[in-house]
Amino acid sequence: MYRSLDKSVIAMQRRELIQLGIVSSFLGLLGLRCSSAPKHRLPVAVATWDHGQMAVETAWRVLQQGGRLLDAVEEGVRVVEADPMVRTVGVGGYPDATGRVTLDASIMEGTGRCGAVAFLEGFVHPISVARRVMEKTPHVFLVGEGARAFALAEGFEEANLLTPESEQDWLRWKEQQGTPAPPPSNLENTNRIDADNHDTVGLLVADATGRLTGACSTSGAAFKMRGRVGDSPIIGAGLFVDDEVGAACATGWGEGVIRIAGSHLVVELMRQGDDPEVACRKAVARYRARTGDDTLQVGFLALRRDGVVGAYSLLPGFTYAVMDAAQGMQLLQAPSLLR
Ligand code: ASP
Repeated sequence: MYRSLDKSVIAMQRRELIQLGIVSSFLGLLGLRCSSAPKHRLPVAVATWDHGQMAVETAWRVLQQGGRLLDAVEEGVRVVEADPMVRTVGVGGYPDATGRVTLDASIMEGTGRCGAVAFLEGFVHPISVARRVMEKTPHVFLVGEGARAFALAEGFEEANLLTPESEQDWLRWKEQQGTPAPPPSNLENTNRIDADNHDTVGLLVADATGRLTGACSTSGAAFKMRGRVGDSPIIGAGLFVDDEVGAACATGWGEGVIRIAGSHLVVELMRQGDDPEVACRKAVARYRARTGDDTLQVGFLALRRDGVVGAYSLLPGFTYAVMDAAQGMQLLQAPSLLR
């Protein structure tokens, strides 16, 4: 069982961030830049939410055993996809409004090679299908029936992803809603789930030389409209990786992230000189300005090619896991725009 942040740790981190904020404002007056973003020693693995701990631990082990970056991110995401307790990724994920679990995933190397699947039903590991799209087809993105046919042709086995728990929740939701309809908000804003059951897994890994690869996987918004696809499988929205600069991924309200091409924005801000946390903060501010939304959580996580990590969210509560050679595993809470 992976841990969640308790309130005292969060309070302590807030205090430290406020102190850092005061120092950085002072340095700002002197024309200096100060980053509150933690520095890590390469290789580094970072992943979204509490369940990111199992992702980074697995990715780390693969790298330590001499595995490739692609294997590290694929394996890291696969453990989350296979865990039925994670209700927003892979098996056990919440179904759509019609009671069917449909999954989105993407994978990207810092060279620009990438692959994605969306609206995929009946396979536990969409991330592996996404990797296969990248490696075995001339295309980047397969969806729905075509993605399913491709997965079957590649030898992936079909499985039932709807667990009794998710089915129960769906039935309860249907009763409350009357007729199926898209949910008014994303999962992190409902009270039905706890901190262990949060959202997209996004995993970014840099090897000892600063080469980067990223992956993300999700069942998307709970009880979404049939056919709805979020940001996670859209390269540039839910994930973007560039060896020249760094990598970024997103979690939260996918429609808002798509509207600002969020992960690409974070990487481009880093390219222009912003440190990862500042880049993530600016992307959250852009999201807020563009969508006018103050209620649906969105969070960005970034890893620069030198191992500096940053994260930022709209609302408090976005946690992320980091693992590096110097400090081992850490579970941190991202600063947020709104308190
Ligand atoms: N971004 C995902 C989506 O909108 C879900 C999430 O991370 O909350 O599909």
